[in-house]
Amino acid sequence: MRAIVVDAPRGVPTPASVPDPSPPPHGAVVRVRATGVCRSDWHAWVGHDPTVRWPHVPGHEFAGEVVAVGREVHGDWIGARVTAPFCCGCGRCGTCREGLTHLCEHEFQPGFDGWGSFAEYMAVPWAGVNLARLPDALGFDEAASLGCRFVTAFHGLVERAALRPGETVAVFGCGGVGLAGVAIAAAAGARVIAVDVSEEKLARARALGAGATVDAAREDPVTAVLEATAGGADVTVDALGSRVTSAQGIRALRRRGRHLQLGLLLGGDADPPLPLQRVVRHELSVVGGHGMPAAAYPRLFRFVAGGRVPLARLIGERRPLEDAGEALAAMERFAPVGMTLLRPDDPVADGPGHRGLLG
Ligand SMILES: [Zn+2]
Ligand SMILES: [Zn+2]
Repeated sequence: MRAIVVDAPRGVPTPASVPDPSPPPHGAVVRVRATGVCRSDWHAWVGHDPTVRWPHVPGHEFAGEVVAVGREVHGDWIGARVTAPFCCGCGRCGTCREGLTHLCEHEFQPGFDGWGSFAEYMAVPWAGVNLARLPDALGFDEAASLGCRFVTAFHGLVERAALRPGETVAVFGCGGVGLAGVAIAAAAGARVIAVDVSEEKLARARALGAGATVDAAREDPVTAVLEATAGGADVTVDALGSRVTSAQGIRALRRRGRHLQLGLLLGGDADPPLPLQRVVRHELSVVGGHGMPAAAYPRLFRFVAGGRVPLARLIGERRPLEDAGEALAAMERFAPVGMTLLRPDDPVADGPGHRGLLG
């Protein structure tokens, strides 16, 4: 099969012909029809993830069709249109048996712990636990655009922060997961305030349903949110993951408010100092969100089926698989506002600078 292979950290992502995967006894092989390019892929590519073994095939936000299953997997999965969470669970450990397969004690992340979806085919472990059937009306592109930023924001807001219609939500950081959070919160009937330092991203947030925006480069976002909400937001989201925005989120809450931490805190931002005295005095909740269990996909599909979430607007561009290196390199300079989708079935690029099949 064709795949994008990286030989070492920061190595050139190179289209190559590699052996087709075969399904493990408990797993399946999926023909990839669309796969997202994610900031996490960039982190893996540059060597931030110690679990990656080289040579490596990145990619974890995919949708496609099941073409083969292992001997322990029911044959009726063959031909199914599917996606899977970026954290796959074993189905057998204590945490998985509680239904929290995304927090599995033996978790497997395609594109990190093994080869991922920047390929024509990929293996998914523990298929019965992790594959989710797509509704007929949901296209492969839209389904790929749901992982991982969208499922993380959905699970975080709906399950972890228990967002209710009519509440106010302030989203700090309007990259991929932040913009997904804006769209989901607005579709859920919340009043959304989006915070970022980029006017382009704030404009995108408004287009996705934010009723108000705060340019944090121009004004103190905590003060702005407290004023806009007459005392604090019901829910704040740190979708960036930094020492600054995690603390800002907590400070911008009303009493009994809930802070949702979605952005990973890496490098110098790990273990940030947080205003925990305020958490005590105002009886605040601080919860984390990381992915979503496969069993929650039907609820997510029902949520997006109503058409309230403009999924197509979350997609920035569509490109052939061979453009993966260019798409990853673009993340070095900035996080693209819209999601880049790679499609293995699209025609091969005709040279450097090819912009793929837009629209
Ligand atoms: Zn498990
Ligand atoms: Zn991702």
